[in-house]
Amino acid sequence: MRVLLVEDDMMVGNALEQGLRDAAYAVDWTRDGESALTALATHEYGLVVLDLGLPSADGLSVLRRLRASGDATPVLIVTARDAVASRIAGLDLGADDYLVKPFAFAELLARLRALTRRSGGTAQAVLGNGPLTLDPATRVARFGATEARLTPREFALLQALLLRPGTVLSRERLEEDIYGWGEEVESNTVEYMIHSLRRKLGADAIRNVRGSGWYVDAPP
Ligand code: CA
Repeated sequence: MRVLLVEDDMMVGNALEQGLRDAAYAVDWTRDGESALTALATHEYGLVVLDLGLPSADGLSVLRRLRASGDATPVLIVTARDAVASRIAGLDLGADDYLVKPFAFAELLARLRALTRRSGGTAQAVLGNGPLTLDPATRVARFGATEARLTPREFALLQALLLRPGTVLSRERLEEDIYGWGEEVESNTVEYMIHSLRRKLGADAIRNVRGSGWYVDAPP
């Protein structure tokens, strides 16, 4: 899943970018509000982690303009402990959740998982279409009686497919969910990971439409 990280503090930003990448997110990091709005207008993100105190356009005005444009991407805002009024304003402007700095990184990940499942219209922690399931907290996938723990990139790929069951996703579309800015795209990664997922879970777990892409079956 592709995440837009908006944070002007270099130390915090570096730590969050690395942590999110380690947790299998594709991360684009912008350091000011205007760049964030440009990124949001040109890429499709699954989540936004938004600091409120930012140069050029502050976090609240980013949020206001994002929602005014009809963009419903889930947004988690991060604020200073004393910024109660900003947090309230952020939630009222359409933020979905918030964290107060400093926060435990594990809590950020749990909140992002919660936002992802709510934006997918479900309260279930485990993604799935029936026979095929994926637990985002543990990266364990099951297909029928077969169970496997996935690598971060295998997880990112299967999650992208399971969030849009029945929809054929192209290689380019899947790469968007796997690679953030500055990460070198290796040409056969998607094909290689599909192969690896099928070997771990069974060939029928992921369907291929020749020349178009891949999909997982929609729930019965
Ligand atoms: Ca800041």
